[in-house]
Amino acid sequence: MSVFDHPEFDGHEHVAFCHDKASGLKAIIAIHNTHLGPALGGCRMWPYLNSAEALTDVLRLSKGMTYKAAMANLKQGGGKSVIIGDPRKVKTDDMMRAMGRFVESLNGRYITAEDSGISVENLQVMATQSSHIAGTSAQYNALGEAPTGNPAPSTAYGVFVGLKATVQHVLKSDLRGVKVAIQGMGHVGYRLAKQLHAEGAQLYVADIYPEGLARAQEELGATIVAPEEILTLPVDVIAPCAMGSSINDESLPDIRAKIIAGAANNQLARESLGTALKEKGIVYAPDYVINAGGIIDIYHQKLDDSSDDAMRAHIAKIGDTLVEIYQRAEAENRATNLVANQIAEERFTTQG
Ligand code: NAD
Repeated sequence: MSVFDHPEFDGHEHVAFCHDKASGLKAIIAIHNTHLGPALGGCRMWPYLNSAEALTDVLRLSKGMTYKAAMANLKQGGGKSVIIGDPRKVKTDDMMRAMGRFVESLNGRYITAEDSGISVENLQVMATQSSHIAGTSAQYNALGEAPTGNPAPSTAYGVFVGLKATVQHVLKSDLRGVKVAIQGMGHVGYRLAKQLHAEGAQLYVADIYPEGLARAQEELGATIVAPEEILTLPVDVIAPCAMGSSINDESLPDIRAKIIAGAANNQLARESLGTALKEKGIVYAPDYVINAGGIIDIYHQKLDDSSDDAMRAHIAKIGDTLVEIYQRAEAENRATNLVANQIAEERFTTQG
């Protein structure tokens, strides 16, 4: 099948198949749209079964980045790259250098960054060959931590701001006493819990590993809940901060919260579940809008004239964007995820 007939092909501007015989690198770089600026999106290394599977992934992910960048008010387009291979078995510095050369050959139309299977150290090796590698060093941090390059603090700050704006839109003006159930006490979930606790929210937390849970219980007074129960609690908000597809045909009937606002990517198992949530009266914060703090972080780390405050102010706009989505969804009686897609499309097709 040609790329142009592929079901995930969506008018992508450029799809480059990259092979370096010496290092064994096989990669695909997809640039979806550069109308708002150069395409930004991470490089993922994964043991894809074949190149068809890798192509499907890179076409889908690069399109998602266009929408995410547009909704995050970034002058960036959407792109992504995938390297075929098991990062624990076949990844070498030669391969990373070859990848860097391919990124460089696109003359800045694509900027890469970290994703699954690719570390900051790998990016630093790529950066010896290209000036279009982001996420190799960090200067700013949204939560006052030492900057490490890990975008989780910014993601957690964005989810906090977005969750609070959603509570203010739907329930009340502050977080005091608001019950929030967080699925996943990892890098983002724990930092989200900490910020919610500081503003008086009542926390319920679940994870499949005990470390984060014990910390949340001791430091934040959170109630620990079994993973299979966390989404079913009679709380105000559920915040999926673990894996994708947590909102699915099985979990939907048992959800009793009024709001879903969390960090996980691809929370809806399928797009039409957004409409099902609307019909149940649940307000859903579209995942790629509320979790954009990480990409905003990567963008700011590249700027010489930014600061912790400037980055925080940019991330805080996630709250305004969500309210714009909710107001339009109510006026048009449509699901929030569909309205978000439409606003993103308007931005990346008409603005420049
Ligand atoms: P993480 O791996 O640090 O944390 C995820 C946590 O979820 C882990 O503690 C894991 O044990 C737990 N978990 C897994 N399955 C679970 C289940 N069934 N029930 C309860 N807990 C479960 O990851 P993270 O960096 O905190 O990211 C969380 C989510 O947010 C991911 O979906 C990620 O893709 C998304 N995201 C993260 C960032 C970022 O900057 N880190 C940016 C955008 C989106």
